[in-house]
Amino acid sequence: MCAIEAGKRGRKALLLEHANKIGKKILMSGGGRCNFTNLSVNASNYISENPHFCKSALARYTPADFISLVEKHQVPFYEKTLGQLFCQHKSADILDILASECTSFGVNIATLTSCQSISHTDANTYELQLERDDKASSVSSTSLVVASGGLSIPRMGASGFGYQVAEQFGLPLIPTRPGLVALHLDESAQGGLAQLAGISVDVSVSCNSKSFQEALLFTHRGLSGPAILQISSYWQAGEALEIDLLPQHDLEQLLTEWEPQSTLLINQLSKLLPKRLLEYCLQDYPQLPTRQYNRQQRQQIIKSLHQWQVKPCNTDGYKTAEVTLGGVDTKALSSKTMAASKQPGLYFIGEVVDVTGWLGGYNFQWAWASGWCAGQDV
Ligand SMILES: Cc1cc2nc3c(=O)[nH]c(=O)nc-3n(C[C@H](O)[C@H](O)[C@H](O)COP(=O)(O)OP(=O)(O)OC[C@H]3O[C@@H](n4cnc5c(N)ncnc54)[C@H](O)[C@@H]3O)c2cc1C
Repeated sequence: MCAIEAGKRGRKALLLEHANKIGKKILMSGGGRCNFTNLSVNASNYISENPHFCKSALARYTPADFISLVEKHQVPFYEKTLGQLFCQHKSADILDILASECTSFGVNIATLTSCQSISHTDANTYELQLERDDKASSVSSTSLVVASGGLSIPRMGASGFGYQVAEQFGLPLIPTRPGLVALHLDESAQGGLAQLAGISVDVSVSCNSKSFQEALLFTHRGLSGPAILQISSYWQAGEALEIDLLPQHDLEQLLTEWEPQSTLLINQLSKLLPKRLLEYCLQDYPQLPTRQYNRQQRQQIIKSLHQWQVKPCNTDGYKTAEVTLGGVDTKALSSKTMAASKQPGLYFIGEVVDVTGWLGGYNFQWAWASGWCAGQDV
């Protein structure tokens, strides 16, 4: 986005990529259909030490702007759920848009090219030592934009390069950790949970005053699914999640309704939740009709289904995390241009910056918006 915008302004742009092709994360995103933006984007959909930082860029380059670009290239798309826009066909359609815009505006792309070192000269120029096929070369420019992403999915080319550049030029960093990631449970602490692998239920999950109501998926190692990926970005080691397995129902009221009936409670509940899950949650109670549980048992059953406490032991880590939380501290950047305030000509955009979106197209919108803003200034 930044190179395209710079190219539009008549700037000579060179895009350096160390992988064999550009935009691999675009290709693998959204299950192959790239959730390229969201109809409703605002600062509350992002996590950052400074929650206001992203406002300016998101207002200057909006989802409607990116949608116009997608429409200009006649790429069909649809709203899947919760404002999330996906390609009708394939993620490559989005990458093709960006590549074609790069061609139109004279952006040069150098793949399989790594940057060995950077120096900043007195003439306010950045000199980069490059390597391609064991051949060394160098390039210089008055602007250097770091768009190298976070640490997630190293096999797709992710590296800590952007953080090293920030450190080299004295920009502070917010510690990084994996976000939008599955959570692991300690099997001995949560005995028997692995048997639930494959079950998916709509839940409301809460942690640190944040809640998400979406699907939860039980896995062999713990919990995943959109609800868990969302809350994982707010979860810190040692904390418990509170899961409401019946967010659409009031179990207290249901128990009162079911009281006159002689059907076993677990059979009543199995109209709402998978039986295997209920057997796990109610394993400490005898299987009885609703009216035969005493008051204390009823309260405990309500609690175990509406306020189930689960303490994950870990995340699945960067190897599967969709994003990296933390990164270049926004304190050191202009929210309008993404330029480093104390280092002329140096910019940081996208995921390398300490701005991390929710699941739902927010991370790409941040990448487009921050790139667009830098592109107006370089
Ligand atoms: C599986 C998966 C699915 C996702 N799905 C979605 C989705 O549907 N919607 C959404 O909004 N977000 C999604 N995301 C998040 C989104 O992909 C990222 O937030 C976004 O790609 C960040 O853009 P970026 O340009 O900052 O970094 P990246 O897209 O990571 O691009 C950085 C580029 O820099 C290159 N690079 C790294 N180090 C160097 C170096 N030293 N030298 C040269 N090049 C280097 C990398 O190879 C890469 O091509 C998904 C992420 C993953 C992992």
